[in-house]
Amino acid sequence: MTQSIPENQPPIRVRIAPSPTGDPHVGTAYIGLINFLYARQRGGKFVLRIEDTDRARFVATSEQMIFDALRWLGITWDEGPDVGGPFGPYRQSERSDIYREHVEILLANGTAYRAFETPEELEALRQRQTAAKLPPRYDGGHRELSQEQIDAYLAEGRAYVIRIKVPEGSTTFRDELRGTITFEHSNVDDQVLMKSDGFPTYHLANVVDDHLMRITDVIRAEEWISSTPKHVLLYQAFGWEQPRFWHMPLLRNLDKSKISKRKNPVSLVYYRQAGFLPEAMVNFLGLMGGGMPTPTPVEVVNGAKETEIFSLDEMIERFEVPKIRLGGPVFDLTKLKWLNGEYLRALPPDAFYEAVRALVFSDDYLRQISAIMQTRIETLGQFGDITNFFFADNIMPPQDVFLPKKRTLEETLVFAAEQLLTLEATDWTTEAIEPALKALGETNSWSVKENFMLLRAILTGSTMSPPLLESLVIFGKARSIDRLRRFLDTQKKLATNPRK
Ligand code: GLU
Repeated sequence: MTQSIPENQPPIRVRIAPSPTGDPHVGTAYIGLINFLYARQRGGKFVLRIEDTDRARFVATSEQMIFDALRWLGITWDEGPDVGGPFGPYRQSERSDIYREHVEILLANGTAYRAFETPEELEALRQRQTAAKLPPRYDGGHRELSQEQIDAYLAEGRAYVIRIKVPEGSTTFRDELRGTITFEHSNVDDQVLMKSDGFPTYHLANVVDDHLMRITDVIRAEEWISSTPKHVLLYQAFGWEQPRFWHMPLLRNLDKSKISKRKNPVSLVYYRQAGFLPEAMVNFLGLMGGGMPTPTPVEVVNGAKETEIFSLDEMIERFEVPKIRLGGPVFDLTKLKWLNGEYLRALPPDAFYEAVRALVFSDDYLRQISAIMQTRIETLGQFGDITNFFFADNIMPPQDVFLPKKRTLEETLVFAAEQLLTLEATDWTTEAIEPALKALGETNSWSVKENFMLLRAILTGSTMSPPLLESLVIFGKARSIDRLRRFLDTQKKLATNPRK
């Protein structure tokens, strides 16, 4: 459905603004898809901006993984760090001067101020508030410093942050899916806009960039609603017109909690490695929230197909962002698998064969596995006996799997999965995995040998597999963790519903 833009409106420009802090997330793809569709339907532009101001959480390889994952899904952008564009640079770390210039405007017009409290003073404030059972927040201590005090602090060379001066009252804005939302300012902190190291915070950089990049519609996840009043205040402080805001419902785990890597694979790398087709994945994301109209009963009687299967082009044709429902869409893996199965079955036989070759038996994968097998078999025919876990999806450990004595299986596996989750996909080397798994024993004084044996049984289905760490490296981070998680889920189901 191509929606017409009323006359005199600026051309539609939307963006996603992922932070490169780790593996590319399914939520980024979901929000990316909606922005992409919105722009394509209106002849607008879709911008990809990298919000890399949080240096503590920055992961160097993450940006490229985000690009690769989105392109894999067919979600392409018109402007971005890698493709350029008229409003660049599109990486926030390259825009420091712009933020500094802009924060000066706010200091000059009195909507922001320097706050010189030391980290110790702020900590003491936080402790006083906690003791008094008050929510921790900045008390506005340096809001009204005199010019002499400011000059004296500056002359001393004291470090400072720049905060927004949130006025009395409340802020109201319109969310295109929810209507009017009001926040009382008593609940809005004097947020830091620029840190003492001169780096902007998310709020400042985000608003300055959205304005300078002429973004007309900010379409992002629901979790940013509570930031929006701060953004609206910033637009007002600069005297800028604000964009339209659309906050999309969060994707949910099956139990309706916010989607999380502890309960679901959330990395797009996992879905790619585990053999999901991009067309199925993007179709599945398009089903979230009901933006794709289903035919009415009358239309069905008249021959309209009642289908949940549609391509990206069909989504561009028919998806309606304003119709998105707010009830949290459930990221249901069973459904995704069903959908993927439909796509696999629809492939021409040659294409299916190529897909199997490319993913399950790629030269690269086989070469890595061969390298650790050469010294371990006596006939080539045995290759499959020992390597089957590399190709199978559902691996069950032998019945007599060694059960650790001092703790439950669950404790061990949850801890192991946590340890592995802390590793980045790019850190997935034997040197990184070994200490992570050893920590499992050391932190709790559990036997390291027991742990490795248990993990080996669960991950490879045998206690006599090729070396565990090398095998895990080849098998991949996402799939290894998923295997642990699935084993744990099965155990839990058995525990709550034991077979007699
Ligand atoms: N950098 C934020 C993120 O990681 C962007 C949020 C927004 O779209 O404003 O999602």
